[in-house]
Amino acid sequence: MTLPGTSVRMPAAFLAHGSPMNAVEHNDYTEAWSAFGKSIQKPTAILAISAHWYINALAVTAMKRPRTIHDFSGFPPQLSSFDYPADGSPSLAARVAELLSPRTVLLDESHWGLDHGTWSVLCHVFPEADVPVVQLSIDRTLNPADHIAIGKALAPLRDEGVLIIGSGNIVHNLGLIDWSARGIGADWAQRFDSQTQEILTGDNPGRVIEMMDLQDARKAVPTPEHFLPIVYIAGMAEAAGASLEVMTSGCEMGSLSMTSYILRD
Ligand code: ZN
Repeated sequence: MTLPGTSVRMPAAFLAHGSPMNAVEHNDYTEAWSAFGKSIQKPTAILAISAHWYINALAVTAMKRPRTIHDFSGFPPQLSSFDYPADGSPSLAARVAELLSPRTVLLDESHWGLDHGTWSVLCHVFPEADVPVVQLSIDRTLNPADHIAIGKALAPLRDEGVLIIGSGNIVHNLGLIDWSARGIGADWAQRFDSQTQEILTGDNPGRVIEMMDLQDARKAVPTPEHFLPIVYIAGMAEAAGASLEVMTSGCEMGSLSMTSYILRD
């Protein structure tokens, strides 16, 4: 079964969500996400792969109306009461399970919803929340090559009107944050971010998984969940034989990369 699609292949994108505050702020990054949403044909549905659903299984949200999850603390009330009222898409959830077969994909009808990795960026891309959204978990038991393979397996969705969004950060180390370093990355953070960019914009974006073995990865990727969403988008680029383009770039607070990417071909 394929989904009724749009007439064009949808892009895929990696959006660097950074602080949840980006949901309610307007800055160069959020402007780029907003411009991206305005630049593309409206998708029939969105599949979001967020750093914040990192569990011991492959699962998709399969409910008709996913709740908005506030999976953080210490932020102002405007964030803890934030609602992103997009519908779900049980048909897309079923299609994802079909594409990833024979892997087991759990159809989650009551547990998860849309976490802030997803809604803090989508509220800029589609502020009306008028496109149905399904989240796919990141299975922490898989290895990097498996995540590439899953990205490749999901690539046909792009021809079925589905916009695929990975939401994480190439460099993400909350323990090393320097709150005074606005718009600045530490040397190692900038180096890791630009080396990753070189691979993703080159001929073989799937090589991005090699970044996780570099010395700088100990600081840049202390845990894999924020890095892995780009691996899925790199897998889709491999499937298309294409490279990624930088949507917006930069580092913040010393140890966060805000570099976002788009796959157009
Ligand atoms: Zn995050």
